[in-house]
Amino acid sequence: MALKIVSVGDPVLRQRARALSAEEIVSPEMQRLIEQMRETMHAAPGVGLAAPQIGQSLQLAVIEDRAEYHRTLAPAQMAERERQPVAFHVIINPELHLLPGAQPEFFEGCLSLPGLTAIVPRSRTVRVECLDHRGKPQVITASGWYARILQHEIDHLHGTVYVDRMHSRSLSTMENYQQHWQGRPVASIIHELER
Ligand code: ZN
Repeated sequence: MALKIVSVGDPVLRQRARALSAEEIVSPEMQRLIEQMRETMHAAPGVGLAAPQIGQSLQLAVIEDRAEYHRTLAPAQMAERERQPVAFHVIINPELHLLPGAQPEFFEGCLSLPGLTAIVPRSRTVRVECLDHRGKPQVITASGWYARILQHEIDHLHGTVYVDRMHSRSLSTMENYQQHWQGRPVASIIHELER
């Protein structure tokens, strides 16, 4: 059963989520919550969902970028975004390290800001130290869109939403994005909006 996703304005999205203990992670309640978050993410659909987005201030997020979500993207757009399928997995108590290098800028959205999108600069490459759904330590090194998803979800665990990082003048409804901006090079959009 899909859970209700909270929208911006709910204080839980602005709180620092608390870490989970090893015992909590393997508990039947937490395993059930992970399963419900997976169903909620798929139903939305979305490529990531952090626990604060379903009203739980816990350092837990689920991620999955399915190939079927890429059907509307041209090969050039996939390549530019460095976007590839990512298998379902859980990150718990993550520590994010931004690796030096490029800061690609793309439109991104959030299930807690339905119908909106904006250009957000993100580090191209990150390293994340976290626990998995069994409480086992994991080190993830990611580039491109997967790195963007990780940064977006881990931001949620610290009370940060993409509007805190976006080019504010690029904020758009999805409808206007599709009508005016989709498919245009991001650099030219920023140039036009911020001159
Ligand atoms: Zn989000």
